[in-house]
Amino acid sequence: MLVVIVLLVTVAMRVAIVTAVVYLLLPRGPLCLHCGIEMVPLRNRFFDRLLPVLQRRWCLECGWDGVVRRVRGAATRRRLPRLTPST
Ligand SMILES: [Zn+2]
Repeated sequence: MLVVIVLLVTVAMRVAIVTAVVYLLLPRGPLCLHCGIEMVPLRNRFFDRLLPVLQRRWCLECGWDGVVRRVRGAATRRRLPRLTPST
């Protein structure tokens, strides 16, 4: 019986470690990794109900979409509009 408990604890520890590593590898915050602009949040029932710490986002500039870690009160950095010389 002790062997079964040790094996179950080992498997549970592996799952916990893999979950923590995957969570830490996800990008953090609403800013795009490529463009640096704020991405648009996408509604996803799975993440909204079961994993509220994660959020699916889509970048309008480069088209990247994926799962990011949700950050409360994160500072946003928006790209300034390009200035064109007036002729
Ligand atoms: Zn982008």
